[in-house]
Amino acid sequence: MHTTISRNNGDLFMEKVALSDIANQFGTPCYVYSRTALKLNFEAYTSALGNHPHLICYAVKSNSNIAVLQTLSALGAGFDIVSVGELERVLIAGGDPSKIVFSGLGKTSSEMRRALEVGIHCFNVESESELVLLNETASALSLKAPVSIRVNPDVNANTHPYISTGLKEDKFGIDINHAMTVYQNASLMNNIDVIGIDCHIGSQLTDVRPFVDAMNRLLILVDQLAELKINLNHIDIGGGLGVRYRDESIQSVDDYMRELLPLLAHRSETLVLEPGRSITANAGAMLTQVQFIKSNEHKNFAIVDAAMNDMLRPSLYQAWMDIQSISHSMGVDEKVYDVVGPVCESGDFLGKDRKLSVKEGDHLCLFSAGSYGFVMSSNYNSRPRAPEIMVDGDNVFLIRQRETIQDLTRGEQLLPVNSSSNC
Ligand SMILES: *Cc1c(COP(=O)(O)O)cnc(C)c1O
Repeated sequence: MHTTISRNNGDLFMEKVALSDIANQFGTPCYVYSRTALKLNFEAYTSALGNHPHLICYAVKSNSNIAVLQTLSALGAGFDIVSVGELERVLIAGGDPSKIVFSGLGKTSSEMRRALEVGIHCFNVESESELVLLNETASALSLKAPVSIRVNPDVNANTHPYISTGLKEDKFGIDINHAMTVYQNASLMNNIDVIGIDCHIGSQLTDVRPFVDAMNRLLILVDQLAELKINLNHIDIGGGLGVRYRDESIQSVDDYMRELLPLLAHRSETLVLEPGRSITANAGAMLTQVQFIKSNEHKNFAIVDAAMNDMLRPSLYQAWMDIQSISHSMGVDEKVYDVVGPVCESGDFLGKDRKLSVKEGDHLCLFSAGSYGFVMSSNYNSRPRAPEIMVDGDNVFLIRQRETIQDLTRGEQLLPVNSSSNC
């Protein structure tokens, strides 16, 4: 997984741009992404897949900024979406509807209708009720809905329980032992066109073994279906390949495909992948500034201007993300700090027990923040959301403005005066 952040004479650069220049120009906190890293990470997939028929559907939920989607779309990416909001983003970014797969276990009828109208590649269906609703919705439009059944292959992805999705007890997909029945029902529905099978076993997988296990289980089912004359055009193994946040050893996309593709040799089905984190995480960073330094008997705190509303991962699942000074501070002693935000929750931290040489006013860089960063941010504590910036070589583009105080109350309404009831 590529990152394009490097240190040069003590200062951090993304591509050819000093991160201190970005912090000074746009203020902090802010998100910054490298267009070159996005391209390299996407191309790692296309080159590893070689001539095998494939469709790489970038998982929009990991970073849905329209300039990110536009960059990937221009490289030929398809998209994995989980809502009509993500669908509209892809369309705005110039994405090709015929390369979109629609995941998610709670699609509404109106979301289905919009996706049918624009002609997406496939609905990844997660329950029998969803299949019934999709058939009805397609029938009302006199269309056929292309469908893949998301099966739960019951493999252990060995990842954090919140991001493990392929075990029997998880809420996702249809039990692989029951999938045959669902396929048979689907194949009898007038407005359903059965075209594929999919799974997604979890996120931040460091090892490719679980993907291989899952693929082997899917292939058994695909062959059983073929005996019933239910022939599939594609096999979608989902996303989930991990990235290095600290010192994890992660198998590369090349390793992954070297193990996976032999299982598909002599088979004609298109391989669909839904990578998110492995494309965006290490293409991005979040910049923040130290407001105050505070110490007590036990701890030193670096209180920064970014908080859990800006970056939730450390608070939500104790994620470890690297934090470094953007520029070396001369003559400042190294100490161990908890890097915390100003939000009124003890869970509001970006990192604990970090060795840093910092003083008030210094800028810090939070690494690997390109995935599940801005997209999970909120206005908690009425904090405007941070801007997003794209670096490309020595060019810098503002791709989302910092929210304003007006943005915070947009759509809200005061009650009319004298409207309170007298009880
Ligand atoms: C989240 C998700 C992905 C992407 O996962 P990453 O770990 O970011 O690669 C792909 N497919 C589905 C169905 C998902 O829910």
